[in-house]
Amino acid sequence: MGPPGAGKGTQGEILERRYDVPRFSTGDILRTARREGTEMGRRAQQYMDAGELVPDEVILGIMGEALAGEAARNGFILDGFPRTVAQAEGLARMLDELGINLDAVINISVEDDEIVRRLSGRRVCSKCGVVVGPDAKPDATCGECGGALIQRRDDDAATVRRRLEVYREQTEPVLAWYRASGPSVVDVDGLGSVEGITKRVQDGIAA
Ligand SMILES: [Zn+2]
Repeated sequence: MGPPGAGKGTQGEILERRYDVPRFSTGDILRTARREGTEMGRRAQQYMDAGELVPDEVILGIMGEALAGEAARNGFILDGFPRTVAQAEGLARMLDELGINLDAVINISVEDDEIVRRLSGRRVCSKCGVVVGPDAKPDATCGECGGALIQRRDDDAATVRRRLEVYREQTEPVLAWYRASGPSVVDVDGLGSVEGITKRVQDGIAA
């Protein structure tokens, strides 16, 4: 867990390789379920076609299909899920039925000002989609393909602050819920090198 821009995706990918277990994010499993045309995937599609948010119950159904699958047999990483207390409660019920224990909840924390700096400073290649961090030169072009670098609309500073507010409103209660009831919450400082943060995460899991 952690706010947008905290490095969840980066760390998730590293841990996925290191522990050789699949990583499930809400966006990824939604895309997979729609592609494979599962029952829950079709229901999610109907909401998205109507321009509505996919309800927790459908997200949980799709996550349940993934967690019960063969790929998850030796463990898994959840990336950015659960996002609400209702999702956390639903996940706990599902894991209970499957006889699975969550080992740890990793909470990567980064201060708001640093998140704003990271996200509002990053740019995306208009041709190939590569993401470039805030420390690149202002007039730089894409190192992969030479395309122009642009800012994504939801990365402007005001929108980032709003996304952080939404995150705190929805997700801080999830952390409080886990601290009160669930598996151990490992708080990790999200500042510093990628390798350094990975080490803190692994130390936290092992502790
Ligand atoms: Zn490019």
